[in-house]
Amino acid sequence: MSKQILILPGDGIGPEIVAEARKVLELVNEQFGLGLTLVEGLVGGASIDANGVPLTEETLAVARDSAAILLGAVGGPKWDKLDMAIRPEKGLLGLRSNLELFANLRPAILYPQLAEASSLKPEIVAGLDILIVRELTGGIYFGQPRGVRTLEATEAFPQGERQGYNTYVYSESEIRRIGQVAFESAMKRNKKVCSVDKANVLEVTVLWRDIMEELAKDYPDVELTHMYVDNAAMQLVKAPKQFDVMVTGNMFGDILSDEAAMLTGSIGMLPSASLNSAGFGMYEPCHGSAPDIAGQGKANPLATILSVAMMLRYSVGSESSAAAIEGAVGKVLDQGLRTPDIAGAGNVSVVSTVEMGDAVMAALKA
Ligand code: NAD
Repeated sequence: MSKQILILPGDGIGPEIVAEARKVLELVNEQFGLGLTLVEGLVGGASIDANGVPLTEETLAVARDSAAILLGAVGGPKWDKLDMAIRPEKGLLGLRSNLELFANLRPAILYPQLAEASSLKPEIVAGLDILIVRELTGGIYFGQPRGVRTLEATEAFPQGERQGYNTYVYSESEIRRIGQVAFESAMKRNKKVCSVDKANVLEVTVLWRDIMEELAKDYPDVELTHMYVDNAAMQLVKAPKQFDVMVTGNMFGDILSDEAAMLTGSIGMLPSASLNSAGFGMYEPCHGSAPDIAGQGKANPLATILSVAMMLRYSVGSESSAAAIEGAVGKVLDQGLRTPDIAGAGNVSVVSTVEMGDAVMAALKA
C-alpha cells in the first residue's frame, strides 16, 4: 500500500491551516513510525493561477499514487467571475469523481469545553458525537433524466408550461457499499446505525431500507434502526445524543450533515472524509476558504488537524496516532486556548492559528 500523502493547501486560509496540520502530521509520523512521505500540490484558485485549470492531470496522477489527500479549502472572490467550468470548486469535484469518493463521513462532535458555542442548551449537546455517512456520488443529484422541458400547450397554458424534473435513483450495489461503510464505522464506535430514508413515499428508499436490513445480518453486533428524514431532522435538534452513526443518501445527507454541524456551533472544529472502496480518502475541514480572515492568523486549524486524525484512522490504519491527535486537541481546549471563532465569553486565552498548532504539538509531546 502507498505510504504517500498528497497535501493540497488550496486557497484563502487553506495554506495557513494546512501548514499547522502538516506540522502535526510530521510529528506523529515520527512518533508512531508511520513511514509516510508527504508531497504537496496545487488545487483550486492556486492551480488556476499557476496552470489555468483548478486541477491538472499531473496532480490527479499524484493523487492516484497516494494513500490519501489532505486538503485545505478552495475558492475566493478572486476567481468568482470565472466560467463555471474552471472555477476552483471544479477542482474538488474533479477529485471526487475521478477517485470515486462515494462515501462522505462527517462527524459532528461537540467537545464539552465548547458546549456554550452551540445555539442549543448545553445539556442537550455537551459531549455530542455523531457520524453522518452520506452517499456522495449518486442519488437525485446525479440521476438521469434531468432538466427543464416545455410541455405541450393546454387550455390552461396555451403557450405550454415549463417543467423541471430530476430522477432519484439508487442501484442495489450503490446502497450496499455506502451501507457497509456505515456498519464498519459503527463497529469502531458505539455500534448503532440509524438509516434515514423516506420509505413511506419514495420507492427508491424502500429498496434502500431493504438493503440496510440485509446488511445488518452481517453485523450482528450493530443495532440498526430506521428513521424518516423529516423525523430525523426533528430528532437532531430535540435529542441529538441518541445517534451514533447515521447513514443516508446524497440529498438527505447534504441537509442533515449541515444541520448536525451547526449543532456544534463551531465550524472551525469539524473534519470530514470522502472515501472510495479501496480505502483511499480525501480529508478536509467542513468549512470553506474563509477569505474574510485569510492572512490574519485568525483561522482555526483544529478542523484540519482533526482531518489528519481521520486520515490516519481510515486510510493509514493507525488508530493510536489518530486517538493521540484527538486527545491533544482535547488537552489544548482544557487549557483554555481558543482561536477567535470559538472564544465565546468565558475565561479563555485567544491564540493565533500558529499558536494553536504549536499548542497541539506541545500536547502531543507531553
Ligand atoms: P466559509 O466556510 O469559508 O466561511 C464562513 C464563515 O466561517 C466565515 O465568516 C469564516 O471566516 C468562518 N470560518 C470558516 N472557517 C473558519 C476557520 N477555520 N476558523 C475561523 N473561522 C472560520 O464559507 P463561505 O464564506 O460561504 O465561502 C468562502 C469561500 O469558500 C467561497 O469561495 C466558497 O466557494 C468556498 N468554499 C469552499 C469549500 C471547500 O473547499 N470544501 C467549502 C465551502 C465553501
